[in-house]
Amino acid sequence: MQFIDLATQQSRIKDTIDANIQAVLAHGKYIMGPEVSELEKRLSAYVGCRHAVGCASGTDALLMALMALEVGPGDAVFTTPFTFIATAEVIQLLGATPVFVDIDPATFNIDPEKLETAVQAVKTGDPTLHPLPQPIQAPGATPSLTPKCIIPVDLFGLPADYDRIDAVARKHGLYVIEDAAQSFGASLNGKKACAFGHIAATSFFPAKPLGCYGDGGMCFTDDDKLAESLKSIRVHGKGSHKYDNARIGINGRLDTLQAAVLLAKFDIFPEEVELRQTAAQRYTRNLQHLSSVVCPQIPEGYRSVWAQYSLLAGSEDKRTALQNTLKENGIPTAVYYPKPLHLQTAFECLGYHVGDFPASEDASQRIFSLPMHPYLSEEVQLQVVGAIEKAIA
Ligand SMILES: *Cc1c(COP(=O)(O)O)cnc(C)c1O
Repeated sequence: MQFIDLATQQSRIKDTIDANIQAVLAHGKYIMGPEVSELEKRLSAYVGCRHAVGCASGTDALLMALMALEVGPGDAVFTTPFTFIATAEVIQLLGATPVFVDIDPATFNIDPEKLETAVQAVKTGDPTLHPLPQPIQAPGATPSLTPKCIIPVDLFGLPADYDRIDAVARKHGLYVIEDAAQSFGASLNGKKACAFGHIAATSFFPAKPLGCYGDGGMCFTDDDKLAESLKSIRVHGKGSHKYDNARIGINGRLDTLQAAVLLAKFDIFPEEVELRQTAAQRYTRNLQHLSSVVCPQIPEGYRSVWAQYSLLAGSEDKRTALQNTLKENGIPTAVYYPKPLHLQTAFECLGYHVGDFPASEDASQRIFSLPMHPYLSEEVQLQVVGAIEKAIA
């Protein structure tokens, strides 16, 4: 059994993929070829956003978004510690400071109430309100960080609570960057993921809901000026002509060949989103009666794209036991994410401690994900369910 089955999908669209790749080999425009702008057009229409800017990875999409918003040293960027390293890595890369905010234990996404408190804590420089990164200034001193931006993550494919996050952002004049690396295809009250925030960033890493055959990513925005900045940053900060650079940028382009693969995959993507719903509902229907695991909770109005189907075990030991039994039965599982970012060596310099973000720490000890992809059959899913029932009996 496979954790993610990319082969079945490929066999469905192999002819189109081959033809699209051959077309690129024939025209030879390997850098910023016509497939890139065609993909940008189709995906911006799907998301319902004015601009899409293809780029080299989800990480570059986040980096370019922060650069377009001119985030840098002295700026506080609020995000969750229960995410992939890339979300906070890019903040640190630009010399800004990640200010972690704990998750809502029901959705695993940033808790808007704690976000409001965290912004207050940074504004007043008061670490008794919320755990703040080092260096903590002396009481009464001018706060050393300026709140600038929020990066909510749509974890496992479920959009964050944008109504409440946007309210906090408006109140304090902050930018919002949607980390939609896992949520392309999801929606909230009918509005598609990647349409939230000032800029959204997604990833086409092969295992994501819409994946290519290498690295790829995309930024989305409704703001004409930000779109111009993103396009400039993507190509070394280019100005009005090639050797007149307006700013410092990166080499962040999406490969034409990857765009060609994505065009073929996008043809069947809406159907795959529906297949993912069916598979997820089947897991939940068959697992929700079990008291020893907690199924994903999808609040009213939300539609996850099910990048992962993740369960909570009773404890870390119970998770290990469950995973071992499933493995013995030939069923692969994975843990996203076993160590929250505030406890990782890379962020040691921020001076966070165990206990700072209890909901993230608890989730990281109990979470595990089941095989998930659009082509899961009922038979295979019942096999997974049977193995879980056996393991906890
Ligand atoms: C995958 C992922 C990224 C990074 O995307 P890449 O394309 O691998 O660079 C960023 N944030 C989250 C939440 C992700 O899951």
